[in-house]
Amino acid sequence: MTEWGLFAVLFIALFIGWVLGRRRTPEPTKKELKKVPNDYFRGLNHLLNGQQSEAIDAFVDSLEVNSDTFDIHLTLGNLFRKKGEIQKAINIHQSLLARPDISPRDTRLVQLELASDFMSAGLLDRAERLLLNIASRKTEFQKEIFTLLVDLYEFEQSWDKAIKIGHQLQLDYPTKKQAQRLAHFHCELAEEASRKELWPKAYQQYKEAIEADSDCVRASMGLADLYMFQRRYRDAIKELKAIADQDHEFLPVIIPKLKESYQSVWGSGGYIKFLQEQLNKHPSATLIRALTEHYAHDDKEFAEQFIIDQLRAHPTIKGFQELIDMQRADAQGHDLENLSVLYGLIEQLTSSKPKHRCRQCGFAGLQLHWQCPSCKSWGTVKPIHGLEGE
Ligand SMILES: [Zn+2]
Repeated sequence: MTEWGLFAVLFIALFIGWVLGRRRTPEPTKKELKKVPNDYFRGLNHLLNGQQSEAIDAFVDSLEVNSDTFDIHLTLGNLFRKKGEIQKAINIHQSLLARPDISPRDTRLVQLELASDFMSAGLLDRAERLLLNIASRKTEFQKEIFTLLVDLYEFEQSWDKAIKIGHQLQLDYPTKKQAQRLAHFHCELAEEASRKELWPKAYQQYKEAIEADSDCVRASMGLADLYMFQRRYRDAIKELKAIADQDHEFLPVIIPKLKESYQSVWGSGGYIKFLQEQLNKHPSATLIRALTEHYAHDDKEFAEQFIIDQLRAHPTIKGFQELIDMQRADAQGHDLENLSVLYGLIEQLTSSKPKHRCRQCGFAGLQLHWQCPSCKSWGTVKPIHGLEGE
């Protein structure tokens, strides 16, 4: 059902609610009897003319809030918020709160909706005050209150507060998604500490991120960066290799760091062994390129045959470009010219293509964002795989 279809149903439901309410009222005043039908027909007229917004306004105005229409008003308020008509949502929710006979449970329910309205309107201070006020007592809506508070603090980038409430939420209502989100909040604090060169604090926050979510690739990468900065390459290698188990889709991102770390301590033996192991399980253009580069040092012909075999099994534009580059090195005259033109064209084609894509909403871009700029999910933007990617 479309949103306006739902509005139409609510419209009719409101009328039924009014009829029921009227029946239960022993002696409706003359004013009530006269006013409601007029507004109802005015609303109906708007609806028939396709003026749904005016129709709902007329209808909402016509009805006093009573126990029969409470749920419908609540739903209408939420629909207005989702449609972006925040002031109407706030008006409806405030009129519900003004009811003299509203129960404590319904009061908290409406306050929760009102807090969502304030958040949608950007009135974050008011939303926070309201939520903290409801949260001060243990209620049946604890999960919803904490979830909204975490959303609010995340939006404000108040990471300390988001972590505090997020951990309470995770304690009572644990979910994997919430754990991932918490880990990223810790990573945000870690990166902030790194920018200020507060290394122990950065280290501590990355560790807490891993504690919150042992699969947090961002925390492992952050720790590896810290270790590399401190020339603790063995520790860096351990962290980087762990990423293959956490989420192998990020392997292309860590290969250059892994190479640098290995070369700083043990030479390339362990590095090549690791790449060869991963090639069988999770081939990617960056991985194939790294191995080709290594083979080409000793035996160029072998390296060329290797990349051709890999391209057959795992075709990518990047791999094809690598092959052209190798052949360009041996070419001369016209051949060199033609290969260079071809190489340049592929370069133009690939440089304008997005390199990362959100697995949640499909947003694509050149940069690796830890929080998707479009759907705001954490850790869902990853390197693109397939013909045009890895
Ligand atoms: Zn997204």
